[in-house]
Amino acid sequence: MGIASFGPLQLDPAASNYGFITSTPKRDWRDFNLAGAVRKWFSGPLAIDTDVNAAALAENRWGAAQGLRTFLYVTVGTGIGAGAMVEGSLLHGSAHPEMGHIRIPHDRARDPFDGACPYHGDCLEGLASGRAIELRRGIEASRLPDDDPVWTLEADYLALACANWSCSFSPERIILGGGLMQRDLFPRIREHVNALLAGYVKTPHIVPSPLNNRAGVLGAIALAFQISREQAVSEPEAI
Ligand code: ZN
Repeated sequence: MGIASFGPLQLDPAASNYGFITSTPKRDWRDFNLAGAVRKWFSGPLAIDTDVNAAALAENRWGAAQGLRTFLYVTVGTGIGAGAMVEGSLLHGSAHPEMGHIRIPHDRARDPFDGACPYHGDCLEGLASGRAIELRRGIEASRLPDDDPVWTLEADYLALACANWSCSFSPERIILGGGLMQRDLFPRIREHVNALLAGYVKTPHIVPSPLNNRAGVLGAIALAFQISREQAVSEPEAI
């Protein structure tokens, strides 16, 4: 079984709280033993990772990252999360990256909104998530028209993030998915990232997710396939 969950998760198998959801802004899920809860009724092989790392794995198998070894998958919805594959492996580090919570320049003259992240205020997620747009404008992001000026601000925030991630990971591609990316923000993001990087490093291809809202659940399946491959169990050829 593959579990693709929102994080932060404890993914160190040596830790006493392995498989727990840890310091999430979703208060009722804090310190919840997710793997343990599933273990109560499932005794087979189990793989757990963040929803965004799992989605990156799915993009690598079936989506926009086929054949790539270093790329990022980013989801921009209610929150902002990102998974990284680096040199062919999902990146975990000491826990796992939380790229949605990076700090980006915040021009308060242009955008006086304090930010929506309960931990950091005006981190990337605090400024550019669907929740941030809703709190800033008092209306659900999905109900705002395409020509609302908030989308230009949104594209510029995402471009700042993509430029920082480009310098940090040197990705071949950055895949942007999630509800907010249904708007056509890509031309402005690409143009702005090019300007920000100023030719110093190569601008990665910034593309939409072809798996779209299926990336998460396909990610869980991809995690499960990884275990089956280790155990030499055959898997379907296509999905
Ligand atoms: Zn934050």
